[in-house]
Amino acid sequence: MKSFLYEAQAARVIFGPGEIKQVQTELEKISAKRALVISTPGQEELADKVSDLIGDLCAGIHAKAVQHVPMEKVEKALEIVRALHVDSLVPIGGGSSIGLAKAIALNTSLPIVAIPTTYAGSEMTPIWGLTENGIKKTGKDLVVKPKTVIYDPNLTVNLPTRVTVTSGMNAIAHCVEGLYAENVNPIISLLAEEGIRALHSSLPAILADPYNIEARSEALYGCWLGGTVLGSVGMALHHKLCHVLGGSYNLPHAETHSVMLPYAIWYNAAHASKAIKSIARALRVEEEDVAGSLFDLTASLGVPMSLAEIGMKESDLGQAAELATKNPYYNPRPIEQQTIRKLLGYAFAGKRPL
Ligand code: NAD
Repeated sequence: MKSFLYEAQAARVIFGPGEIKQVQTELEKISAKRALVISTPGQEELADKVSDLIGDLCAGIHAKAVQHVPMEKVEKALEIVRALHVDSLVPIGGGSSIGLAKAIALNTSLPIVAIPTTYAGSEMTPIWGLTENGIKKTGKDLVVKPKTVIYDPNLTVNLPTRVTVTSGMNAIAHCVEGLYAENVNPIISLLAEEGIRALHSSLPAILADPYNIEARSEALYGCWLGGTVLGSVGMALHHKLCHVLGGSYNLPHAETHSVMLPYAIWYNAAHASKAIKSIARALRVEEEDVAGSLFDLTASLGVPMSLAEIGMKESDLGQAAELATKNPYYNPRPIEQQTIRKLLGYAFAGKRPL
């Protein structure tokens, strides 16, 4: 076995159908008295539900979170935090709600009790993101990592099919890149393989019946593992490409991950044999079929299969390849701009990677 560093990050996780009811007790445990409940506008009903559950501990509801955490939204939210004397944050929803809570915590060190309802996994990471003047910055700071996470699968049954599948693929992507990370370690590899298995087996079952709580639980469990992997080890080409495509061409986050993942695996496969073995075990396929079978999985789940379908312009592919290759970063296979351009061409057309 190679030498490695494993550094555990504190996490308190409450998991199970109906466990949202624990939110008040969890706030009391951290001595919170004035919590701000945060959601996207579409999830205001869930925010109201949290407010009802925590009663007097609720200082207010802020249902104004949007994708990519724009700086203006953070400044507005910080004014509200000050005006209401908020002492804790309860984001409910996906990466957008949790992202806004993290940006507030970065400025105020307020503790977060997160209630995730998608599979993006942000709740398990110390990673924050902010968009200012069209440029998305990210960084790591343990102060933004939620103190408690409540995973309640009942809250995910109304998650639309498209978000379920694409954010599930986003979680699989965290696991895949964790398996070939520069600083991979045996513990994180175990979590990553199990995360892929759980998501791969549950997504088709959810599609067949979105109210299947057992499958919804399995997917949320897989997303928790994916988030832990993302928060613990470095990512590589796939995340770099998605960051460039989302940040510079405004492509939707989860859909971009879902489209790009088979191509990133195709690019790295021959240079990441141990990771490929693990993914093949989790997907129950032959090693040479890993990229193709993930492509087939997303095709069977009925979500967009090409960059063209999610708003990329063909004329921007060359520039995207340049942006994704101009600064050096770790990847198991050396980064070659021409091959990345070819890869983006395949992804633009939705061509099955062989
Ligand atoms: P999102 O939070 O924007 O949610 C996607 C959509 O799902 C929204 O329209 C939302 O209203 C809807 N939704 C959420 N919960 C729902 C529910 N229970 N029922 C019905 N609809 C529901 O998107 P996301 O994919 O969860 O997160 C993407 C964002 O998170 C990006 O900005 C990304 O950069 C960030 N992210 C950050 C990290 C990190 O570690 N910092 C990790 C992953 C993603």
